[in-house]
Amino acid sequence: MRVDAIDKRVYVRQSWLKDMLLCPDRARFSVTKPEFRTQNDSAAIGTAVHAGIEAVLSNSCSVADAPEVSLLRFKQMEDVGINHTNVNPESWHGHVVGLTQAWVKDIKPYVPTGGKTEVPFAVPTGQYVNDYELWFEGTMDYLHEDGIWDWKTAARKYSIMEKQNQDIQASIYTLAGNKLGVLHGDSVFKFGVMIRVANAYGQIVSVNRTKAHSEFVTKQALSAVAYGFAMTSNTGIPTDERWLINDQHYLCSQRWCSWWSVCKGAHISESDNQTGEQNG
Ligand code: SF4
Repeated sequence: MRVDAIDKRVYVRQSWLKDMLLCPDRARFSVTKPEFRTQNDSAAIGTAVHAGIEAVLSNSCSVADAPEVSLLRFKQMEDVGINHTNVNPESWHGHVVGLTQAWVKDIKPYVPTGGKTEVPFAVPTGQYVNDYELWFEGTMDYLHEDGIWDWKTAARKYSIMEKQNQDIQASIYTLAGNKLGVLHGDSVFKFGVMIRVANAYGQIVSVNRTKAHSEFVTKQALSAVAYGFAMTSNTGIPTDERWLINDQHYLCSQRWCSWWSVCKGAHISESDNQTGEQNG
């Protein structure tokens, strides 16, 4: 959430809204302490693979050279520092190359030509919280009049039903594609997923998005922004004591939450989480 007090706008990205729904304090930290955000290995692999794909789609390299472009990007990030989570560091380079090849083999043949890569957007919703207009912002991986594509790398296949029922990114981006005048009404949002296994392969997940999805995600974002405003106005209670701290999900861990050390990790150490001996 980014507030523009001069133009009276509040900008929301899909990642912030997802964080808000998962753990509001994590969403707060992402705004107040962005310097804590670390580059973890699976995210770095995804960013590198994106670089190779983008180079192909913008005609700056051939499909044969795409894995090399991805690897070069990954090595640049390695020089800065990558946080090891659950991917064996010895397999990092192999994954970057294999996942890029999986996109070339299993996904690219189905991607229509003539679209635009890496399209930044900021679009108004016409809806307001406290006189501030809600805007959505973000960057589309590939915008085409037939629908938007987004590239993902994942440890396992996506659940189509889960994405159809709950995906926030597909709703926001389709709304934005319509606002930009490239899409016209209902559309299909496609995830080009590359699965990070020894023999990487691609999966295309198509999600239908209609006016109803746009309306619901707008309502959802308005509620999150209203919560954010309520938690930051002058109530006399320190800001960092107001936001809901939700640790009831798998991303709440030293490995997966960048703000662990200033949140749960500041209270609970490994020794506090030792389990007792099991009897019988
Ligand atoms: S450590 Fe857990 S509770 Fe704290 S911000 Fe991260 S996800 Fe939320």
